Amino acid sequence: MHIGVDLGGTKTECIILDQKGKEIERLRKETPKNYYGTLETVCELVNFFEKKYKVECSVGIGTPGALSKETNCIKGGNSTWINDRPLKKDIELRLNRSIFFENDANCFALSESYDGAGIEHEIVFGVIIGTGVGGGLVINNKIINGFNNITGEWGHNQMTYGTNDKWNRHDCYCGKKGCIETYLSGPGLSKHYYDLHKKSLDAKTIQENANNGDDQALEFINEYLDYLARGLAQVINIIDPGAIILGGGVSNMKQIYGNINSKLKKYVFSDTVNTQILKNRFGDSSGVRGAASLGRK
Ligand SMILES: [Zn+2]
Repeated sequence: MHIGVDLGGTKTECIILDQKGKEIERLRKETPKNYYGTLETVCELVNFFEKKYKVECSVGIGTPGALSKETNCIKGGNSTWINDRPLKKDIELRLNRSIFFENDANCFALSESYDGAGIEHEIVFGVIIGTGVGGGLVINNKIINGFNNITGEWGHNQMTYGTNDKWNRHDCYCGKKGCIETYLSGPGLSKHYYDLHKKSLDAKTIQENANNGDDQALEFINEYLDYLARGLAQVINIIDPGAIILGGGVSNMKQIYGNINSKLKKYVFSDTVNTQILKNRFGDSSGVRGAASLGRK
């Protein structure tokens, strides 16, 4: 059987799949905002399932950030307390075996390519737009990690200038200014709404207002879609995937799916843009399913 752990900034989710990939059970715990607490939580969840089902499983972990090839420590995670720590090695020491370890957006992309929304496509780019903006590339059901282990990190490219630049260029936690993440993430969306309208609303409330016909929220979301198109155009110009699968809280924005392709045409280097921009199939479960799938052969 296969255990997957999705190590998020606020919650840690653990799933156990049978040999055929069917879900047996899942558990969620709050993620402690410190390194050793996080380590303990991951190991407790794995040990709990193995004790309950009396079997040693393959273990796959999906985390924010990626392992540095130089130091074997996590780099670039937005859960900053795991950065510069040898998380994989420390979990392996505690569990006394080798584990699979992947960026959480790669896990999401794998799950959606394997048996989710991207099942019909050879090249699938998975995008998570939530607290941060991540991405993962899967070709023929294989995760592409890249030479520096950063394939898919489009969220820290710079937002390009476009036809309606009303929004400020904010600082990003990575040290740069004007990263795509600072425009498209849930907190980024909320911050820009405040800049323009001097109202503190979270991303979910802005979406709800738009769905209820609020003109200000609808206009704001229309602008947001233009920024989203500029970000995704960078991905399409380089990788040209058949499908881009969206996950994270912002993927619930229903205005995206009917409107994004016409906006992409303004920014993609092609006469037609038939790339399928799709909502994920497995919702919040994609990451943890993908993590468990790392051990499926
Ligand atoms: Zn950045």
